[in-house]
Amino acid sequence: MKVCLVGNQNSGKTSLFNVLTGMNQKVGNWPGVTIDRKEGIIKSTDIQIIDLPGVYSLNPFTSEEKITRDFLLNEEYDVILNIIDSTSIERSLYLTTQLLDLNKNVVVALNMCDLLAKKGFHVHEDMLSKLLKVPVIKISALKNEGIDDLINAIKNQNNSYKSIKIFESDIENSIDKLSENIESNKRYNALKIIEDDTLYLKSEHPEAKEIIDNLYSRYQKRMDEVIADQRYNFIVKNKDKYFHADKDEETTSDKIDKVILNKYLAIPIFILIMALVYFLSVGLVGSFTVDGIDYLINLLKDSVENGLNSINAFPWLTSLICDGIITGVGAVLNFVPQLIILFICISVLETVGYMARISFFLDKVFRKFGLSGKSIIPFIVGSGCSVPGIMTTRTIENEKEKKTTIMLTPFIPCSAKLPIITLFTTFFFGSLAWLVSLSLYFLAIVIILLSAILLKKFYMKGESENYILELPEYKTPSFKYVSRDVIEKVWSFIKRAGSVIFICSILVWFLSSFSWTFTYGVPIEQSILASIGNILAYPFYPVIGELSWASTVSALLGLVAKEQVVSSMSVIAGLAETVEDGSLIFAQNGIFGFFTPLSAYSYMVFVLFSAPCIGAIGAMRREFKSLKTTFKAVAYQTLLAYILASLITGVGSLIMLFI
Ligand code: GDP
Ligand code: MG
Repeated sequence: MKVCLVGNQNSGKTSLFNVLTGMNQKVGNWPGVTIDRKEGIIKSTDIQIIDLPGVYSLNPFTSEEKITRDFLLNEEYDVILNIIDSTSIERSLYLTTQLLDLNKNVVVALNMCDLLAKKGFHVHEDMLSKLLKVPVIKISALKNEGIDDLINAIKNQNNSYKSIKIFESDIENSIDKLSENIESNKRYNALKIIEDDTLYLKSEHPEAKEIIDNLYSRYQKRMDEVIADQRYNFIVKNKDKYFHADKDEETTSDKIDKVILNKYLAIPIFILIMALVYFLSVGLVGSFTVDGIDYLINLLKDSVENGLNSINAFPWLTSLICDGIITGVGAVLNFVPQLIILFICISVLETVGYMARISFFLDKVFRKFGLSGKSIIPFIVGSGCSVPGIMTTRTIENEKEKKTTIMLTPFIPCSAKLPIITLFTTFFFGSLAWLVSLSLYFLAIVIILLSAILLKKFYMKGESENYILELPEYKTPSFKYVSRDVIEKVWSFIKRAGSVIFICSILVWFLSSFSWTFTYGVPIEQSILASIGNILAYPFYPVIGELSWASTVSALLGLVAKEQVVSSMSVIAGLAETVEDGSLIFAQNGIFGFFTPLSAYSYMVFVLFSAPCIGAIGAMRREFKSLKTTFKAVAYQTLLAYILASLITGVGSLIMLFI
């Protein structure tokens, strides 16, 4: 026997899958965790179970929905196990009505029943079962309740299921008429023809045109919308039968939400929380850990240098190891403590349920700009790394909105950009570093919103998608989840330092230690890197208001990985031998010494908003599925960064003239 597990994102599919199979798949609080299907055997039975990606409907828009829909339509299986978050039952039943159209055995598992009482909700599973004509079982995947009943219900399926009538009679009649000429999945396919789904050509069904024209003349609306409306109608109309909520009881979550999601307070609170996050990570922790680690790295460098000198190693080898590798990789590792704090903060905000709330609130704001709250999730995930951020855009159905979101996700400061932000802000803005960092974070949000308007106007016209999200209960963050999440992210940062940054630092060292005739030890101004940079420095002039080859090539090397900007600067500054201390590369230093707070800020703006790293560009290409669109997106990002940074330098210098 083969069972497939279908449900909305976050309904507890993976949790139930783990309970049923005894396996340990990652349970995530975010949509998009289960992107591919997973298979297992239900404990002490021979029933095979498949965990499919979470979907809100069977309309094949996102790649996840394609996986799930294709599986349901084309593969062999015996039972659909539809899991529902019983605390947001109305939304979940939409998918259920679509599953019922498939004419397969369906068992409904009402999950999260442990939360019902707390919320003051009552669900009558018998009534629901009568309405849907399928077994409905209350369970809690978390507390391991009702699981045996569920397994029994699955075992007792006997292929006798007949679809129920959901729509108004003219549509139901049309379905019946169309079904006569359809071979398999009659009801589902008939509905697709009525909805005028592009995958189901009307032309193959000559009788369809008349039927659809008749329906259209009655409803005067797109039929897919009519069908969707009637599905909701069916759910809402019958709600009293299966659902009841205690009116007066206000849960703690509701009370907290009254403050946090208050019309006037929500945005200030959001700003305050993000300020605290930056204050903790960049300000408080940054100020005393960076120097400490820097000291350790210098200690390592000195002792390696002494060691190598004492065995009379080649000078170039000593320089390669100390000035290239240790300086380059060390410049990036400096920031690990801050990243840990940043990741802990974000992860806690995620698991507590705050991020879901702010995305719910910002939905209203974003909608005015042609994006929906769904775009926020890629942005939030993108604050760790753009690559998974871009990948979560798969959950956005609306193609235009998805493209816009992919294009804008790299604007969010990812963890690799944090070293750049911290280095510059700490050096030029001292105790106000966290505030300046925060300003960059909000600048990113403003840029995203303005870009969204721009793209909507000139490039991607269209409606933004309805965001169906009901707020989860506030939860105390689980130590296990947070620590796993943080370790995973920090580890991937460290791995990059050990691979990409390692190799790139060697390259930077090589290019800045050798001249075109491959003579070692030339003054850095005669190096290969300097000669390339000297040409590129001209177009880069408006950004920082200086001709600086070193800043130019460092910014360019950010394409490999954004941390590399900091790493390259340290290597170049170290080789220029003006300053010993890697973190103080700006002090009295000929090569970077021109930086003022103003040019430092515009330099940061350029590096943060211009083309993302190769990894993110690759992810963009995969999701766009088009090289041309990817190219356009990168060009847009870079041009925007260029204009913005030039404006800051230009206007800023003008203002400086007058004060
Ligand atoms: P999926 O996206 O459908 O695979 O959902 P997950 O299995 O990843 O679960 C989403 C979240 O809901 C996790 O934080 C789970 O711990 C939580 N969860 C799952 N089942 C239950 C349940 O029965 N009760 C409660 N309170 N939480 C649950
Ligand atoms: Mg899952």
